[in-house]
Amino acid sequence: MPRERLYLFDTTLRDGAQTNGVDFTLADKLAIARMLDEIGIDYVEAGYPGANPIDTSLFAERRPLHGKLTAFGMTRRPGRSASNDPGLAALLAAQADAICFVAKSWDYHVRVALETTEEENLSSIRDSVRAAKAKGREVLLDCEHFFDGYKANPAYALACAKAAYDEGARWVVLCDTNGGTLPHEVEKIVGEVLAKIPGDHVGIHAHNDTEQAVANSFAAVRAGARQIQGTLNGLGERCGNANLVSIIPTLKLKPDFSENFDIGVSDEALAHLARVSHALDDLLNRASDRHAPYVGASAFATKAGIHASAIMKDPATYEHVAPERVGNKRKLLVSDQAGRSNLLAELDRIGFAVDKDDPRLSRLLDEVKEREAIGYAYEAADASFELLARRLLGKVPRYFEVEKFDVSVEQRINAKGERVTVSLAVVKVKVGDDLLISAAEGNGPVNALDLALRKDLGKYQSYITGLALTDYRVRILNAGTHAVTRVLIESADESGEHWTTVGVSANIIDASFQALMDSIVYKLVKSGAPA
Ligand SMILES: [Zn+2]
Repeated sequence: MPRERLYLFDTTLRDGAQTNGVDFTLADKLAIARMLDEIGIDYVEAGYPGANPIDTSLFAERRPLHGKLTAFGMTRRPGRSASNDPGLAALLAAQADAICFVAKSWDYHVRVALETTEEENLSSIRDSVRAAKAKGREVLLDCEHFFDGYKANPAYALACAKAAYDEGARWVVLCDTNGGTLPHEVEKIVGEVLAKIPGDHVGIHAHNDTEQAVANSFAAVRAGARQIQGTLNGLGERCGNANLVSIIPTLKLKPDFSENFDIGVSDEALAHLARVSHALDDLLNRASDRHAPYVGASAFATKAGIHASAIMKDPATYEHVAPERVGNKRKLLVSDQAGRSNLLAELDRIGFAVDKDDPRLSRLLDEVKEREAIGYAYEAADASFELLARRLLGKVPRYFEVEKFDVSVEQRINAKGERVTVSLAVVKVKVGDDLLISAAEGNGPVNALDLALRKDLGKYQSYITGLALTDYRVRILNAGTHAVTRVLIESADESGEHWTTVGVSANIIDASFQALMDSIVYKLVKSGAPA
C-alpha cells in the first residue's frame, strides 16, 4: 500500500520563542532555521514580521530553504478592510513562502477578547486568506483555542476552519492553545472535523500542559490529520509545545507510523537528531535533559547488572529502538552496584579489550567502588570513568602538571560606588620543561580558575581551543561536619561531543579543579595529543 505523506511544521522560532528565558537573536534564528532545514522539516515558521525588529529584518530578505519559510501573523483586524491594515500589510510584504494566520475559533473569545461579531471574524478569515493567496503565498490558518471552542460551540469552531478551507487555505490547523485537551478528545474532535474538511488539509498544534502534546499530535494523525506542528526539544511557553524531537523518531521507527506514512526526514538526517537537539540547548546555554526520550544521555543507559549482561548478548532485549538510529549511544552505567559485566561492557564501548579474568579488572572495580563510597559518581561522569580506566589499564600521558594555583575572592567598592566581587586565579603549569604562569579574572572563583588553567597550555593549547564548559553542578554530600562537595562539569567541543567529569573534596574549589583537570586531560586524550 502506498504510504501517505505527513508534513512537519516547526514553530521553534515563533511559538518556541515565547519560552520563559529564551531570546533569539537574528543570528540564532538563522542558525536554527538552517538546522531545521537540514533535518528535513517541511515548514519553518520563523517569526512574526512587523511585531519586533528581529522578525521584521529576518523576513526583509529572501532566506532560501528547502522547506517553506513561513511568516506568522494575525488575520485582518475587525472593522478594517484588508487593504487598510498595517499588520496584514507587513505580513504580506514578508519574504516568505507561506503565511500562517492565527484567528479565533472560540465564539466566547470572539466576543470577549476580540469584541466583535462572529460573522465579522469569519469575514476577517476569508479576506486575509484571499489577500495572502493573491500575493502568491501558501496559506495556513491556526484556529486558536479550536478544541475548547469546539466543545463550547462546534458549529462556530467548524465554520472558522471551513471559512479558511473554502477560501483556498492549504492547511487548517487545529490548535489546543491552552493545552488541556486529552488524546481521546483530540481523536474524536479531529474525526468530526474530517467529515467537513479533508485530512490532508488538517494540521494539529498541541501544547503540553497535561504532558500529552506528543500523544495529542499522534491522536490527531490517527484521526486523519496530516500535518503536525511542534518545536525542537518541546520549547514553548508554560509547559511547551509538542516535541518534534520525540515525534520524528516515533514516526520513523515505529511500524504503525513508518509503514503508513512518509515524512521529509531521511534516515541519515534522523541519525543527526541527538546532535541537533543538543546544539539547540548549547545555543540557549541550557543543560540538555539527560532523560529526554530518544536523545537524552540516559535514554539508552542501563544500570542493573542483569540487564547489562543481557544487553551485551543482544541490545534489543532492553532497548525499544537502536540508539544509533537517532544519533545517540548505548551506555552501561558503572556504579557501586555494578557487576563485572557492566564494567566489561563499558570498557568495550570505550575501546578497551580486556579479558574477563584479567586481574586488573578487579582492581578497577575496587577502585570505582572505593571512590564512589567517598562521593565520586562515575555513572554520571563518563569521561572521568574513562580516564580512571585508562590510568589503571593502559596509559594516560602526563601532558602537564599544575605545580600550584592560587584563587582569591575580593569584595570591594568600585569607582562608581558599587559593591563588586572579583575573583582572580593564578596558575603555575609545567609543560615539558616550560614553566607557564597564567592569571585570569572571572565572575567567580571556579570561572577564574578555569580561565587561567586554559589560558596557556603551551604546545597543547591548540587542542583545547574548542573546549567549552556547558554545565556545572554542585552537590553537598553527607551533611554535617564531614560534608564533602561533589562537582560535576559538563564540557563540549567543536565536534559537538559532550562529556562529564567529576571532582570530590571537602573544598569546593579543589573539587572543581579535579573536574576541570579531568575535562582538559580527556579532551587531550580524545584529540590524540602527543605525550
Ligand atoms: Zn501555540
